[in-house]
Amino acid sequence: MPRDDIFPHVAASVLRDETLAIHAGYEPDPVTKSVAVPIYQTVAYAFDSAEHGAALFDLEVEGNIYTRLSNPTNAVLEKRVAALEGGVAALSVGSGAAAIHYALATLLEQGTNFVSVPQLYGATYTLFAHVFKKQGIEVRFAKSDRADDIAACIDHNTRAVYCESVGNPAGNIVDLAALAAVAHARGVPLIVDNTVATPILLKPIRYGADVVVHSATKFMGGHGTTMGGIIVDAGNFPWRAYPDKFAMLTQPEPAYHGVTYVEQYGRSAYAAHCRTVCLRNTGAVLPPLSAFLLLQGIETMALRVERHVENARRVATYLHDHPKVAWVSYAGFPDSAYHALAQKYLGGNAPSLLTFGVKGGYDAGRKTLNALNLFKRLVNMGDAKSLATHPASTTHRQLNEAELAQAGVKPEMIRLSVGIEHIDDILADLGQALDAA
Ligand code: PLP
Repeated sequence: MPRDDIFPHVAASVLRDETLAIHAGYEPDPVTKSVAVPIYQTVAYAFDSAEHGAALFDLEVEGNIYTRLSNPTNAVLEKRVAALEGGVAALSVGSGAAAIHYALATLLEQGTNFVSVPQLYGATYTLFAHVFKKQGIEVRFAKSDRADDIAACIDHNTRAVYCESVGNPAGNIVDLAALAAVAHARGVPLIVDNTVATPILLKPIRYGADVVVHSATKFMGGHGTTMGGIIVDAGNFPWRAYPDKFAMLTQPEPAYHGVTYVEQYGRSAYAAHCRTVCLRNTGAVLPPLSAFLLLQGIETMALRVERHVENARRVATYLHDHPKVAWVSYAGFPDSAYHALAQKYLGGNAPSLLTFGVKGGYDAGRKTLNALNLFKRLVNMGDAKSLATHPASTTHRQLNEAELAQAGVKPEMIRLSVGIEHIDDILADLGQALDAA
């Protein structure tokens, strides 16, 4: 997808995030003049003739065929997120989990492996360690998120390196440029889950990421109403340089009319393969109404993220100084192991997802959790509302003790997704809950 396509009357690259988030990918529809993005609630699209239908299937002309392949509302979301991340194309899917699955399934087959950092969202860990394993695809968890530990795991069968730019819930900030360098030196792409950071705080493609995935369910939607996932193709990886490793993109694809993706789709070959092989045949399609709701969220994402980050800074300081709190993990503190990386990658900001432990361990932590009123106890993040989770008993429950330690999940750890309510009310709720512990 050329950049002109993202925002027709001005090059997207000169526009700021706040503007792209509101306009990229859509101009008022020339027929209806609708200023809001229409919800194309349709399954299929009429062919002008039998020949037109055949030409669409033969890829001789462009156009919509069936919503499992493409939909005009979803296309606006895809262009908007591609513009925000600085990619050439994107694919929207039904959830973040589907986005992660497709992003890897596109490149991996039985007998191949990929290398991952150990600090991952729980369901991502399970997908890698158990689901892919049953399909004959090996995940190699590096000892840490450091580039030398990642490099040590790459071999000739490796097809990708995977990380979360900011780990959930560990809060580790990955040195993306270093990871991209070791991946590229060994001829494999870097895939980055940028959900926690959001493209407002960090754009992984600038540091060498080849693919960016998101759970749009979180900060993009922003209101805890809508599931969705996005895969963004940076368009930079030289697939043609490794024709055997990436035969699915460089050789004719039997699953889709014998197309050779790098020839048919150029820089967006990878995104096109995700769409026409993974999405078309396994079907985790994003409902168009959900695409519309996610677009509504994205319009205010920059404003919300700014407030999330500021409120989290105040919460981290408050907890740090509270006599009942044993520890706080927050990259904004100068003594945090991730402070320097926050300066480099997050523009000096720290993520609004933070963790802490209460003195007295899990029992005291559980009492605190149970006493919260404004903070909702649940498993989600990036909502306008303040949210609290105990990862070890919920999102990461399936991990054993050693796996929990490797993923950076302490037994007593409470994870906060700090919302955008008034900060005084947020601090008052935390204060009364800690008093109750
Ligand atoms: N990636 C991260 C970092 C997450 O935290 C989550 C969910 O919490 C996902 C992916 C999965 O997204 P979804 O719940 O939209 O499937």
